[in-house]
Parts: sequence; structure tokens; C-alpha cells
Amino acid sequence: MHARHTTSAAIAALILSSGLGAAEPERIAIGTIDEPGFEYVHGCWEGPDGNLTGVRVLMPIDDAVLEHQMHKDAQLRGVADNRLDIVFVGDGYTAGEQGQFHDDAAVAISQLFLYEPFTSYEPYFRVHEIEVVSNESGVDNDPSQGISRDTALDMSFWCGGTERLLCVNVSKAYAFASLAPDVDQVIALANSTKYGGAGYPSSDLGTSSGGNGSSPQIAIHELGHSLGNLADEYTYGGPTTWPGGQPGSSNASVDAASQMAAAEKKWHHWLGYTGDSRFDGPVGTYEGCNYSVFGIYRPSNNSMMRNLNRKFNAVGAERLIQSFYAEVSPIDDHTPNVHPVAPDATLSVTPMQPLDHTLDVSWTLDGTPISGADGQTTLDLSTLGISSAAVVEATVVDNTDMVLKQSIRDNLLTQRVAWTVVTASCPADLTGDGSLNVDDVDAFVTLFIAGDLAVDFDVSGSLNVDDVDSFVAAFLAGCGGGVGL
Ligand SMILES: [Zn+2]
Repeated sequence: MHARHTTSAAIAALILSSGLGAAEPERIAIGTIDEPGFEYVHGCWEGPDGNLTGVRVLMPIDDAVLEHQMHKDAQLRGVADNRLDIVFVGDGYTAGEQGQFHDDAAVAISQLFLYEPFTSYEPYFRVHEIEVVSNESGVDNDPSQGISRDTALDMSFWCGGTERLLCVNVSKAYAFASLAPDVDQVIALANSTKYGGAGYPSSDLGTSSGGNGSSPQIAIHELGHSLGNLADEYTYGGPTTWPGGQPGSSNASVDAASQMAAAEKKWHHWLGYTGDSRFDGPVGTYEGCNYSVFGIYRPSNNSMMRNLNRKFNAVGAERLIQSFYAEVSPIDDHTPNVHPVAPDATLSVTPMQPLDHTLDVSWTLDGTPISGADGQTTLDLSTLGISSAAVVEATVVDNTDMVLKQSIRDNLLTQRVAWTVVTASCPADLTGDGSLNVDDVDAFVTLFIAGDLAVDFDVSGSLNVDDVDSFVAAFLAGCGGGVGL
């Protein structure tokens, strides 16, 4: 079924970097390689001075995951359940150890939501735990190389020759994760106390050691990569001086503050931010980032992308919120707007609800703000005295102070929904444009064939030839704008 298999020989052939202790491991910056069908699996963990270090290993992306990605790309945001779905799957947990799996997942989840912006946006997430039963307890190469176990997801330390790199069979992980109602990110937990993890950014998958106290930190750091496309902010492993070229990530820049401000690039809008308790800050340009010491800058002195047990900086948090809104729409629900509504209808919107603030709601009638309606989630149209065809629109905006960039707010943190209001004297104006024409006839036919009771013109509860007669009569009766056939 799958053309590619992640065999150990294939992995060995594709290793571009080796673990700690290698003379000078070659690193490839995230986002600089675009090889269809392959991705860099990477691991980051504490180095000797407490800052992170890590490796990258090139691996084929499983066909099943490519299918998942295509499906996801084709999907409009919010379609499935309007939440960002994180799915936990376990490996090396036997039938009798499923309780342990849930306990380990609970620890990882509770740690994730300790960090902004995850803390405030926790209601945007839905977390699923899928029980996966393995024949044997524990995973491969744990605690040492050469130990093999029969497990459901083939998780293994010493992936690519690197002790802390904890790999998984992505295809098998997705096969189980797909049992959840929706999948946006997968976290594979190994039944192990050994320190390790890995990130598969293109597969939206991370691994973590379920029983190690520090490993959930790695999973959070990996979410910074896979969810926010954030670069590492540590300085190990690359050329001492950055070779040039602007990295794609939001939190790495070749420009120091003055050039960045002048060019209005990267995090220029955060420069001078003195920071607060939610973030690792203040924000400036600190030299050393993305595996190089010189010639490339990070937004804050320290952060989750540089060291475990740190907060994200404000720049990383803004980028993560942008990613949340790539999956979640600001409006969670609203009065249906596929058909015109009556001038005495009550409209409602249900905005998403972060924990730290409320989304802003405003309304317009034919483009003019409706005074007194700001902040209301329902609007009784009868209070507006609408006497001819009109358009009422609700706008919901997340004005969180964790996002400063206006283009992000306009493009992703703002959502509008519009309703066409038709007056009762003009029921045949199905398109709601204020006049009767051939488009209304088309709309009637379409809705009638679809069995839509919106065209139950004689209000009998079912569609039949009488509705055609009633529609024709209503059409010939005309409305304010007259018949325009
Ligand atoms: Zn990293």
C-alpha cells in the first residue's frame, strides 16, 4: 500500500548529521530544504551548559502522512470541529499499562498549557488520547542500544545513531491517531523514563518519553517547531558565523535592530517591548541563533526555543497564535446565513473564547455601524426597522495584545459573517438583492431540487408542485424593486 518504507538501511543512508561527540555535526536550518517526500526529523535537548543542542536526520515522509497533509491543505479551517486537535498515541504500553499511558499523557498536557500562548488559548484545543496496545512493555534501545521490543508504533531511541533522538513509525502513529475525530498534531509517547524526543515538522508529529519529567518540555519545544515553524534560538552545531540569507522562520533574522526597524521586517513591531511575565523577554535583537553564533539574531536573550523550562518569547507566541488561527475560526458558530432572513429575525454569533480576554463583536447594517450593538453576540433585527432588502454583517476580532502585527489580525484573527435580510413583501427574492430576476428562478430550482424547505412556499412542510405555483405567484406579485426579467 505504501511505496516507501522507513527501513533502517534507508535511515542510515539519509543521516546527514550525527549525535553529540561527532567531530562537527552538519546542521541544516529548518525551512531551507524543500525536498518533496522528505523531512528533517530533529531532536533538541539540553547541552552541557544548559542551553539546547540537537541534530537533524533526513527521512522519507510516509505516503499516509502526505495524504493527511493534502487532505488538511484542502480543508477550510474550522470545518471539522473548529478546534486544534492534538492526538496522543502511546507505544510500549501493554494492555495492562493503558492507565499509565493516560497518566503520562495527562502530565504532558498539563505542562503544555503552562506556557503562553497555550495557556490563554487552551479552549482552542481538543486533546485526544488513543489507547494503543503493544505486545511488549517499553521501546527499542532503552535503556541501551541493541534492546529490541515488539511494540505497536516501533518507537526507538538511538534513531539515526543519536541516543536522545526518539523516533516512531509515522505511518503507524497516524493509523492510530486517525481514530480521533480530527487530527492536527500527533504526539507519540514512549513508555520509558529515558530522556528524549523528536520532532517531525512536516508530519505535524512529535515524540516524547512518557515517564521522563523533562521530556514533555522537549515535546513543547517541538510544537514550537512544528506548529509555529519557529527556528531554534541556540547557537550550537552550525557554522560559527551565519553564512547569509534570511531564514524563513519568524524568530531568526540576519538584521540587527536598526536595520530590522528600517526594513520593517521580521519582529520589528516588537522591538523595544520590555516584556511581561507571560513571555521570556524583553525583545530586541540578540546575536546568535539558528545554530550560528555570529551574523544572525534571535528576539530575546532566552526562550523555549533556546532552552527547556523557559517561556516562549513574545515573537514566538505571536507566531504560534497565528498558527492556532490557521486551524480555528474566530466565529465558532452563528445563525445560518445560506438563506435570506426575515426583518424580525434574531441573529447570533458565538465567538471563540480564550481564557484571558473576550473577542470583540461589532455589527453593521448596509455597511453602517449599528450603534449600541458592539459587544453583543445577538442582534434582534426588529429593533432596526428594516423595510427593504438589506445586509447585516457581524465582525468578530481577536484583539489580543499577544498579536501586534496588523496583517495577522486582519487575515486570521478577524472573521465576518453577513446575512441578507428580505422583507416579507418580497418572498420570491431568493437571492436577496432587492429585485426579482432570473437568478431568483435559478435559486428556486436549485433549492427545490435539493429538497430545501427554504422554498416551501405554501408552508406545507414538504415540497411539491404547489410550492412552484406559490413561488410563481409571489414572483409575479413583485416587490419594491420590480420584476427585472
Ligand atoms: Zn529545536
